[in-house]
Amino acid sequence: MLRFIYQALPGRVIFGAGSLDRLRDEIQRLGASRALVLSTPEQRDQAQAVAQRLGSRATGVFDQAAMHVPIATANAAREEAKRLGADCCVAVGGGSTTGLAKAIALVSDLPILAVPTTYAGSEMTPIWGLTEGGIKKTGRDTRVLPRTVIYDPVLTLTMPPMLSATSGMNAIAHCVEALYAEDANPIISLMAEEGIRALGTSLPAVMKDPRDIEARSHALYGAWLAGSSLGAVGMALHHKLCHVLGGTFNLPHAETHTVVLPHTVAYNSKAAPEAMARVARALRADDAAAGLFALASSMGAPTALGKIGMKEEDLDHAADLAVENPYYNPRPITRDAIRALLDDAFRGRSPAAR
Ligand code: NAD
Repeated sequence: MLRFIYQALPGRVIFGAGSLDRLRDEIQRLGASRALVLSTPEQRDQAQAVAQRLGSRATGVFDQAAMHVPIATANAAREEAKRLGADCCVAVGGGSTTGLAKAIALVSDLPILAVPTTYAGSEMTPIWGLTEGGIKKTGRDTRVLPRTVIYDPVLTLTMPPMLSATSGMNAIAHCVEALYAEDANPIISLMAEEGIRALGTSLPAVMKDPRDIEARSHALYGAWLAGSSLGAVGMALHHKLCHVLGGTFNLPHAETHTVVLPHTVAYNSKAAPEAMARVARALRADDAAAGLFALASSMGAPTALGKIGMKEEDLDHAADLAVENPYYNPRPITRDAIRALLDDAFRGRSPAAR
């Protein structure tokens, strides 16, 4: 019998090729007139172009966004927002840039208008992260949830193919864990399954032709569904493991998700059969874990932690950290099984149900 709690999050989404044209109107709709445009140094040109398009409604560009939001960067951006008298932030970029806008909103309540250019999904979540002294703290706060999100697939055309593949697998990971979340519910499960389907079909097409706007649009649609799933329900073993590997061993975010996902899915496969059936159906595969591994491999994405910077001598420490604090997972967490999972992921073996 069905039993669930569903809490909808507020937010306005504008989707479609060319929708960036609506940015000025959307800022006005928020009642704002002095936007601080944020980006990474690599996307400064894109941010400048956005500021130019905003004309007098842009008050400046801050282009120092970096992975995992270092506290020094957050503080510099907060100061800049104050100095310029900004009344909203426009985040043009991936999860790192959205994360910086969230760090500003956390202390100032400035509304965020997000313009995502990857598939990470942060724009749909009330989750913030800040890194201080090598430790990444995360939390949930509705003040950091972007008020408006403009999804314009044209901005994703420049995303390098390999980032597209791994960022897409990161998005699929949000969908997969949403399907077996402690607080899973029918609405989010529909979105999550559709997200896997959309990404599973569009990512190979994006890899074939990164400038295929149809495929880019479909992938971004999947990313929206994935971000919505991540924002609505809790995550489990997969996100915990990736948090440990990224935070403590400094492994790259999207690649880590790509390598680990088939293994965490194999780990949970017997404990969450309905979720796995939905993943397999969405991928048109016989088995969820094998289907995910095949998808990543077919795109030439990394499949071994050893190839993305993990050291074999750190695997024991990673397993210790992954079992340190209890958290929800459909299958109980045991240190030996996690250590075995990490060994498979380190060597790039095909995923094995244990
Ligand atoms: P990213 O934002 O770090 O971007 C990676 C690189 O690609 C950057 O140099 C960026 O400038 C560049 N780039 C992005 N889009 C581009 C485009 N269209 N064309 C050319 N270059 C482009 O990577 P990410 O994977 O999007 O984000 C990772 C970060 O987001 C991590 O810190 C992760 O923890 C966080 N995250 C947070 C949430 C949340 O809900 N809070 C969700 C997902 C990810």
